Amino acid sequence: METMTDKKQKYGMVIDLDKCNGCGACTVACSIENNIPPALEKMNKRNSLTWLNITTVSNNEQFPKSESVFVPMFCQQCEKETPCMTVCPQNAVDIDPSTGIVGQVPQRCLGCRYCMAACPYHARYFNWWDPTWTEGMKKQLNPDVSPRMRGVVEKCNFCHGRLHAAKQKAASQGNREINPTDYVPACVESCPNKAITFGDLNEATTAVAQSAKNENTFQFLSRLGTEPKVYYHSEKKWVRAMAEKSLTRTQQEGFHG
Ligand code: SF4
Ligand code: SF4
Repeated sequence: METMTDKKQKYGMVIDLDKCNGCGACTVACSIENNIPPALEKMNKRNSLTWLNITTVSNNEQFPKSESVFVPMFCQQCEKETPCMTVCPQNAVDIDPSTGIVGQVPQRCLGCRYCMAACPYHARYFNWWDPTWTEGMKKQLNPDVSPRMRGVVEKCNFCHGRLHAAKQKAASQGNREINPTDYVPACVESCPNKAITFGDLNEATTAVAQSAKNENTFQFLSRLGTEPKVYYHSEKKWVRAMAEKSLTRTQQEGFHG
């Protein structure tokens, strides 16, 4: 049951890289919330599923000047010219105009993987195998999120199931708008260092909107014009300087500001 609302939200995040210590709590919470199956023995980094990857990047200096940061990387929720949506022949990718969230419709996906090639952030994952759960794990599956089948692509959707639940709660209370505190993605909730700020970028008073405008807040690969709704923040110049370079999952190279 959806609420009827005229309000247009633009959900986004700001991740403070100076606070992230790479603990991986967000990765675990994301997997559990979204029914991402555990890796099989035959899987490797290229064919396993993790909607949220943490990449380590260093400034490539010698001790004592050496520094490194952890960069949580997932779907950047591209607002403009959304590359994965533009190339999909099946209309299996859509952007919800009322929330700005880029969604994936597994039932329409034919598995051609054009979207994976088009995504500049390596944020999409192909299901090479049907999900396999151990007996104990089946009890903790999230009933609000459908497991995806073999042969389709998937990705982070800002825990859309949680947004749906917040909408249902608002509707049951007779409200047209959700309470913002009822919609918090799992990674945001689980971060022990409170490194991730989430909310409506269209609402100037929200912490996320104000943080997005901070002079030390940046988007990755902004030159592509995709206008990600996931922002990053760092007071360190060399960290901000890496934003226009491509990150790969195995990257260990250094960056200089
Ligand atoms: S980051 Fe990749 S998957 Fe996410 S909206 Fe942009 S192109 Fe699509
Ligand atoms: S893999 Fe699926 S979502 Fe991606 S482009 Fe092909 S049909 Fe569209």
